[in-house]
Amino acid sequence: MIIFRQPLENVERPQMPADVVIVGGGPAGMACALRLSQLIDAHNAAHPDAQLSKENIYVLEKAREIGQHCLSGALLDPRSMRELLPGFEKEAPLDPEVTKEAVYFFTEKSKFKFPITPPFLRDHGNYVISLNRFVKWLGGKVEETGITIFTGFAGSELLLEGDRVIGVRTDDKGVDKEGHQKSNFEPGYDLHAKVVILAEGPRGSLTKQLIEKFDLAKDTNPQTYGVGIKELWEVPAGRIAPGEVIYTMGWPLTTREYGGAWIYGSKGEAATNIVSLGFVTGLDYVDPRLDPQHVLQEFKKHPFVAKLLEGGKMIRYGAKSMPYGGWWAIPPVAGNGWMILGDSAGFLNSARLKGIHLAIKSGMLAAETAFEALQKDDSSAAVLSGFQKKVESSWIKEELWKVRNLHQGFEHGMFAGMFHTGLQMITGGRGLRNRYPAQAGYARMEKLSQLPASGGPEAHLLGPTKGDGKLTFDKLTDLYHSGTKHEEDQPSHLVIYDTNVCNTRCVKEYGSPCQNFCPANVYEMVDDASQPNGKRISLNPSNCVHCKTCDVADPYQIITWVPPEGGGGPNYDGM
Ligand SMILES: Cc1cc2nc3c(=O)[nH]c(=O)nc-3n(C[C@H](O)[C@H](O)[C@H](O)COP(=O)(O)OP(=O)(O)OC[C@H]3O[C@@H](n4cnc5c(N)ncnc54)[C@H](O)[C@@H]3O)c2cc1C
Ligand code: SF4
Repeated sequence: MIIFRQPLENVERPQMPADVVIVGGGPAGMACALRLSQLIDAHNAAHPDAQLSKENIYVLEKAREIGQHCLSGALLDPRSMRELLPGFEKEAPLDPEVTKEAVYFFTEKSKFKFPITPPFLRDHGNYVISLNRFVKWLGGKVEETGITIFTGFAGSELLLEGDRVIGVRTDDKGVDKEGHQKSNFEPGYDLHAKVVILAEGPRGSLTKQLIEKFDLAKDTNPQTYGVGIKELWEVPAGRIAPGEVIYTMGWPLTTREYGGAWIYGSKGEAATNIVSLGFVTGLDYVDPRLDPQHVLQEFKKHPFVAKLLEGGKMIRYGAKSMPYGGWWAIPPVAGNGWMILGDSAGFLNSARLKGIHLAIKSGMLAAETAFEALQKDDSSAAVLSGFQKKVESSWIKEELWKVRNLHQGFEHGMFAGMFHTGLQMITGGRGLRNRYPAQAGYARMEKLSQLPASGGPEAHLLGPTKGDGKLTFDKLTDLYHSGTKHEEDQPSHLVIYDTNVCNTRCVKEYGSPCQNFCPANVYEMVDDASQPNGKRISLNPSNCVHCKTCDVADPYQIITWVPPEGGGGPNYDGM
């Protein structure tokens, strides 16, 4: 077992045998469970004498309720859902089909509409959805089939035996800040599973353990990420049509940063429309003072956006990272006893800002492989590597291959990026070479001594923003709208290996960027005269919205996000 957080010693843990454990009940995990159930039903109908059971198939979800930690844009490309549940449109919670798209380039006060929508941003036929509501519905389908979803249970450690994953340990409950058992202590379960499927979303914590343990990223490009900061608004009807989609590039980012915004319209109550809007900032920016929550607030000040939101009300806030690295950053996705799905693997098309359909498809393919393993009673790498082959011969690869070099093309800024994108579009994704190299995003961050004290062209994006309380908000006001709650008296789930680095080096070299990139005010540098620089790191873990940005963006890579006590986290109703 690799230890990211020291587990309690001398604790007797209940042991539970399982056939399949799926960690994470997002679109990937739920689709996997549902497809596995369909295959078992079909098998049992055809073989009444050799029945397979679903009793020992479990989904672990850290949120208290299904879908509560799911945040996305979101537009759903229905391709994989039509394969999983033909006719799903009749009963799924879908908002309107997309009827109108536009792509704009923003300058500070003006905008230019692209004369034609680039092919990858054409969304006719896709649906506006709330991922939270969609996953709730999908989870209901899984439960109807007889598969158990344990909500409020996080996969907290992988159980390993030699080079094989043999199960998952769930989180201990009732442990205090100092790591002592409280009166309500309940030890986590050791689920010993034939097949462990990791569907934890971006930067999964068990996935990180697995990748480190087996050095799975040794032949891949480093995974790169963006963080999406989202607000949901209720605006007077008529401002945006239900099913209208707007993408923007440019302002408030400069040509040095990667990112852009989305605005999706759907129906609200009576005389209102709901607007989902957000800004994705690539976590490979140079200036450590840049604050992605501030970027969204600046974006809303653009006259076009401010007019759209005028007289409206912000009703929800949230943040989440997404894997941008594309095909070359995907690690091996199957091995001895394990498979990795969805965003945890990196199945996301960043050109389209879409991963839900890929997460679902990867879940289906993993289910087919797990089914074969159960039938053969063999979950060795020889059988589970069938998943790798299925992915490579499916439309997942076909779609991701065409954009395999997209993000890397922007390493030298927006203009170079647009040149490479054009070239890649006419060469089937190749561009100047088959595999463009990439650098981990955190490695691009520069020290304060290399940057202008005034902030230079990025000055308007640096540090905290105050907000006017109507159109723009400070972080704590935004955070309040995420509904985040955790048990306060528990060990910190943000593990910093060496806080001396924060107090002695980072504060001087980078100005403590954790205070800026965290969208939930978890990290603070407080006054402490005993420290060499007069400042000490202090954490408010109960603010955390589980976006994983700190784990990704910290320039020293000394922060690891581990799951807090199950049930804690944001409440992304309607997101
Ligand atoms: C801001 C933003 C906008 C986006 N817009 C779109 C869009 O418009 N269209 C689109 O197709 N895609 C979009 N995406 C991408 C899309 O949301 C993801 O690709 C998709 O949600 C991935 O599904 P998943 O099941 O792999 O992971 P997730 O949706 O992240 O689900 C993972 C689940 O696992 C749970 N979990 C994590 N770790 C553990 C653990 N250790 N134990 C137990 N449970 C755990 C989480 O609580 C969560 O419920 C967007 C992403 C972001 C961040
Ligand atoms: S502490 Fe880390 S995971 Fe939590 S909200 Fe802040 S950046 Fe995101």
